[in-house]
Amino acid sequence: MTRVLLAEDDPTISEPLARALRREGYDVDVCPDGRVALEAVEENPDLVLLDLGLPYVDGLEVCRRIRNDGRSVPVLILTARADEVDTVVGLDAGADDYVTKPFRLAELLARVRALLRRKSGDTGGDGEIIRIDPEARRAYFHDDELQLTAKEFDLLRVLVREQGKVVPREQLMREIWETAWFGSTKTLDMHISVLRRKLGDDATSPRYITTVRGVGFRFESSDQG
Ligand code: CA
Repeated sequence: MTRVLLAEDDPTISEPLARALRREGYDVDVCPDGRVALEAVEENPDLVLLDLGLPYVDGLEVCRRIRNDGRSVPVLILTARADEVDTVVGLDAGADDYVTKPFRLAELLARVRALLRRKSGDTGGDGEIIRIDPEARRAYFHDDELQLTAKEFDLLRVLVREQGKVVPREQLMREIWETAWFGSTKTLDMHISVLRRKLGDDATSPRYITTVRGVGFRFESSDQG
């Protein structure tokens, strides 16, 4: 059964929405605040519906923590603040989509279905080049465990999470070294070259971690020889 985590503190929204989702055949876990939502995320829901204005831990922070833990669960934001949407869906928090309140139920359900489809589409399973276990902080490359330092693991986790997309240097510096970016990313380059070596990648024509000049790096999502 597809499990949806609904984090929403306003019962006039969460109750009818939960009913509608259950009618669609989803198993719905309603969380009235951010703290409860973060606990419920541990149970690996298939989708997270997240209100931004939540007590204790706000939705933005909940979303960030989900992504910092390396979880790729689709996150759909519910917000009354259309002006905040850019930050939420952009690089900062890593949400996948948003719906502004008041929303039409049919539209919201369509977005939910679209995200779930996308999710089932990219979990190909077999033939995975790389697998990250964020809880155990372990990474496997063609089923062999990689020996990585903490920062190397974090770097690989972010690149793999965003695989197929370019991850800007600024974002990597911020997410992994938690520093504002002032132009020098020597540390980052060093870690990239170590990771490439561990993946058996050729620095002059890397196959897994490619350099996108002037922007950042991309983990290639398919194993094209
Ligand atoms: Ca709210």
